[in-house]
Amino acid sequence: MDQEKKDMAALSDWFMRFKRVLPWRENHSPYRVWVSEVMLQQTQVSVVIPYFERWMELFPTTQALAQSDLDAVIKAWEGLGYYSRARNLHAAAREIMTKHAGRFPSNKEDLLKIKGLGPYTAGAIMAFAYKQRAAAVDGNVRRVIARYDAIEENIDLAKVQKRIEARTHSLLPEIDPHHTMEGLIELGALVCERVPKCGKCPLSSGCKAFAKGFETQLPIRNKRQKTVSLHRLVWILFHEGHVLIRKEKKGKVMADLWHFPFFEMNKNIDLEQVSAELESLIGKVTYDQELDVIKHGFTRYQATLYPHIWQAKNRTDLPGHTWVSIDEISKLPFCSGHRSLSEIIASYL
Ligand code: SF4
Repeated sequence: MDQEKKDMAALSDWFMRFKRVLPWRENHSPYRVWVSEVMLQQTQVSVVIPYFERWMELFPTTQALAQSDLDAVIKAWEGLGYYSRARNLHAAAREIMTKHAGRFPSNKEDLLKIKGLGPYTAGAIMAFAYKQRAAAVDGNVRRVIARYDAIEENIDLAKVQKRIEARTHSLLPEIDPHHTMEGLIELGALVCERVPKCGKCPLSSGCKAFAKGFETQLPIRNKRQKTVSLHRLVWILFHEGHVLIRKEKKGKVMADLWHFPFFEMNKNIDLEQVSAELESLIGKVTYDQELDVIKHGFTRYQATLYPHIWQAKNRTDLPGHTWVSIDEISKLPFCSGHRSLSEIIASYL
């Protein structure tokens, strides 16, 4: 047996011995693989587990998801971030019901035609649900292969990613290829991490980066995008036990999520000017008080919220906004920083 085959056999054994017990591994239906893989994009396993379990209670099948309101789907996703993933899951479930009679396609080409379903997720469904010899290459696998083959090129380049995908496919055995495929993903998550634990790695005999001693210098990647700071003056406008909220417009990062209205600002707050602007929108207001600053991150943004309370004389309608009670807020999908704020202001209503 050549070294590569020995390594892949060792990886498969390692995976079967050490794999984590995870709820989506109990039953590899295409629907469960799909939902779990979408949730796991950009999100840690420990965060995903309770979301996945709740999701499966709320939407146990593609049909149940397709028949649900988008608001209920976004609400179930609340706190996971990158909400386009939830919107795409919902749209795709409807597409699977109408175009595929509720059954997931069992070939990669048709899977790739479904809204929001990319090569990684299509590969994962083919590999884990249909047990096919299919590559599912995520960031973990790219890191492992880049080191195993000592690839000294930027793995964020499309041409390099294509090569890594083909290479991954070539490493999969004919028998039980899904064990090796999932093993590569698991190895990247548990052993071949940013700081690799080569002493515990089943691939160490054949790993070229390890042999050359530059495993910590690989993979080569693009520079990370800088975090953008946002400062927002949040207006908490009360009127007789109700508060004004707004739903983010389609096409925005937080589309379909509710939040308290705000002005983008620099750090200097001129409350008189803000009150005057509010009055021009909503009529007479009386300034009440300032609340503690809240920080929250989403995608590549770090937002600092400066909440202030005003009492509104009238319940004026403002386009795109609505007046709600605190009980209603708890039922709506809210973005995370504003959710924390809603819990603080519950005592004011
Ligand atoms: S030997 Fe080290 S660098 Fe190579 S695959 Fe294993 S953990 Fe990664």
